[in-house]
Amino acid sequence: MSKIQMTTPLVEMDGDEMTRVLWKMIKDELINPFVDLKSEYYDLGLPHRDETNDQVTVDSANATLKYGVAVKCATITPNAARIKEYNLHEMWKSPNGTIRAILDGTVFRAPILVKGVEPYVKTWKKPITIARHAYGDVYKSVEMKVPGPGKAELVFTADDGTVSREPIHEFKGPGILQGMHNLNDSIDNFAHACFNYALELKQDLWFASKDTISKKYDHTFKDIFQDIYDREYKEKFEQAGITYFYTLIDDAVARVIRSEGGFIWACKNYDGDVMSDMLATAFGSLSMMTSVLVSPKGVYEYEAAHGTVQRHYYKYQKGEETSTNSIATIFAWAGAFEKRGELDNLPELSKFGTNLKKATIETVEGGEMTKDLALITTAKNVKTCNTEEFIKAVRRHLEKYYA
Ligand code: NAP
Ligand code: MG
Repeated sequence: MSKIQMTTPLVEMDGDEMTRVLWKMIKDELINPFVDLKSEYYDLGLPHRDETNDQVTVDSANATLKYGVAVKCATITPNAARIKEYNLHEMWKSPNGTIRAILDGTVFRAPILVKGVEPYVKTWKKPITIARHAYGDVYKSVEMKVPGPGKAELVFTADDGTVSREPIHEFKGPGILQGMHNLNDSIDNFAHACFNYALELKQDLWFASKDTISKKYDHTFKDIFQDIYDREYKEKFEQAGITYFYTLIDDAVARVIRSEGGFIWACKNYDGDVMSDMLATAFGSLSMMTSVLVSPKGVYEYEAAHGTVQRHYYKYQKGEETSTNSIATIFAWAGAFEKRGELDNLPELSKFGTNLKKATIETVEGGEMTKDLALITTAKNVKTCNTEEFIKAVRRHLEKYYA
């Protein structure tokens, strides 16, 4: 078989620990035998981030802006323990945060459904994709402990010196205070990313907030979404046969549970944080979740939603057998090939991405899976694979498409 050709390189962001091990196995077994891989390689492994004073992370994000599609391995976000472990010069920031700040995106997370790993919610037949706004609110808030009686006010001083004031509360005793913000530009970008992604997946878009209680803050989110929808997307949605639906967050939660799935749920930052873990777990497993950063600048970064699986890596380093699930990382590569093929008009490349996903799902549905899934599956006659065996099993299935 002649290998599938590419025209534009993928931006390849390598990472850390067990996922770095998976990365190489996936390339060796599932990609290089089939695709004449063109990639611009950036080593975001912690030692190289440290050597380059984290410049490599910035470079990889800029390359993504240049080429349009990136695939990222999970990376360590350093803390005090990692500074010791890797003898770091500095506590480098989260690479995802750095990349997000440059690409300015919205993160979409969707569960990977396989027969035999059943959602806990019986009505769910199709995946539910969470779109999480990744800026502001409580994640950029300032807080205060109120020691005792006194008056709290919200004060805004405009650049021209005009002062606006709102009383918050007359404290009679100790309490707590929090101030948070968001930006119309950031909410605009969030809305565009969600509407575009809904059109791309041809799925309905839901958005929810608490605008009845928060008549200025949350209401602004609602208004911005509605304005942008009416102005730029209403006709496109009608043509695509999909709908935009706004409701209150508590109503949304109730409807999500009763739904069949198959839609995108746009969430404010905090709601998205909480609801994505709830959804991933309710759909079966944290290691069966895809994640893609969609930027309003028209670029895409695919990754797994989980971390570097540190505990497994320490076992691997000691030469012990591991059974780490590579599905989310395989799907990140597959999604990147599908998108690169679509942008470059290379149907064979897109199809390879789709076949790679199919082969992976067929492997699990055929009874071969890693331990995390073997523990929760309803399937009979399960073979629990180690890390490498699973990837080799996917290869057997993939080869059938290219025999
Ligand atoms: P983690 O890597 O997601 O792993 C947490 C636990 O979840 C694992 O110990 C394992 O459970 C299970 N798990 C996760 N992925 C799995 C997989 N593919 N196959 C099988 N089991 C899986 O989170 P962490 O251990 O808290 O974090 C490790 C490092 O990852 C940290 O340094 C953190 O900074 C980084 N991180 C990176 C990203 C990213 O780059 N996107 C995201 C999150 C965290 P058992 O041990 O019980 O088998
Ligand atoms: Mg969370």
